Amino acid sequence: MIRFEKVYKRYNEEAVVSDFSLEIKEGEFFVLIGPSGSGKTTTLKMINQLIDLSEGYIRIEGRPISDYDLQELRWNIGYVLQQVGLFPNMTIEENILVVPEMKKWSKEDMTNRVTELLESVKMDPDSYRHRKTTELSGGEQQRIGVVRALAADPDIILMDEPFSALDPITRDNLQKDVLKLQQQLKKTVVFVTHDMQEAITLGDRICLMNKGKIEQVGTPDEILKHPANDFVRQFIQTGLPNYKEEKYVQDLIDAGFCSQLQDLPENSVSAQATVEELTILLSNHEAVSVHRENETAVYAISKSNLISFLAGEASASKEANR
Ligand code: ADP
Repeated sequence: MIRFEKVYKRYNEEAVVSDFSLEIKEGEFFVLIGPSGSGKTTTLKMINQLIDLSEGYIRIEGRPISDYDLQELRWNIGYVLQQVGLFPNMTIEENILVVPEMKKWSKEDMTNRVTELLESVKMDPDSYRHRKTTELSGGEQQRIGVVRALAADPDIILMDEPFSALDPITRDNLQKDVLKLQQQLKKTVVFVTHDMQEAITLGDRICLMNKGKIEQVGTPDEILKHPANDFVRQFIQTGLPNYKEEKYVQDLIDAGFCSQLQDLPENSVSAQATVEELTILLSNHEAVSVHRENETAVYAISKSNLISFLAGEASASKEANR
C-alpha cells in the first residue's frame, strides 16, 4: 500500500532520514516510534508530500507519490496533528466538511456524513453540529480532529502524536475509539508517537527509529520478545519500566501461581531461577518447592500452576495488543 524504497531526506547534506525501506500494508495500523529528533515526523510528512524526499521512492499502490496530483494526494490522505488545528471561527460541522466542500459533495451527502461521523465518536450530532470548536474540551477537539481526517473517506490516515497533549484518561478513551474506528473502517493508519505503551496498544506493527534509521520493524510481540539490539532493548525498558523480557519463578509466586503445601515436593528451585529453568525441571517432576530468602513460607509450584501462568501471560499480552 505505502512502500518506501531507500528513502533519504537531507538538510544541507545532513541526512535526517536515511536508507528507509519498508512496506506498510493495506488496512494496517502502523506505528513510527523513536526518540525526539529520530525522523518520525519527517518520514510521515514525506508520505503526503508536506516534505519532499531527497532520494529514493515512496509509492502508494505502486505509483510514486510524485506522479500523483498533489491536491488529489492530500485529499485522499487524512491528517491528524497534535495541535488539533481546527478553525476556531467555524462550527464543528464546517470544520469536518472542509475537504468534502473542496470535493464539491452535495449538501445532503455532507449533512449525512457529519451525522454519521459524530455518532461514530458518540457525540450527539444535534447538540454538537453547530457549536464552535472553541467551546470543546481538548479531548473533544481531538475527536473532531480525527473525524475531520476521516470525513472524505480517505484510504490512508496519518497521525502525528495526536494524543500526546491529552490527559491519560481522555487519551486512553481516544486510543480505544481510534482502534475501533480503524477496525470498522479498515483504513491504513500511520501513527507517530514517542510512547512505547501507546505503540504496543495501537500498532499492528511498529517501526522503531533512531537518528533517521530503522532499528527494528515488527509486531509488538516480536519487538518485546526479540529486541534486535541494545538500543531497542533500552528503549523498551525506559518506555515500559514494568516490562521484563525474562520471567522468573519469583514472578509466578507474585502472581499467585503457587500453593503453600504442608507436604512439600522434594525437588526445589530458587526464586531467582528463570521460567525456562522451571519448565525443564517440571518436565521431570509434578511439582517443585521454592524457599524464598528471609521468608518462612515455602511455596510449591505444580505443572498446572506453570501452565496457567504461561496461558495467562499469553492472553494478557494479547490484551495489550488489542
Ligand atoms: P521526530 O519527529 O522524530 O522528533 P523530526 O522528523 O521532526 O523528528 O526531525 C528529525 C531531524 O530533522 C531533527 O534533528 C530535526 O532537527 C531535523 N529537521 C527537521 N526539519 C528540519 C529543517 N527544516 N531543516 C533542518 N533540519 C530539520
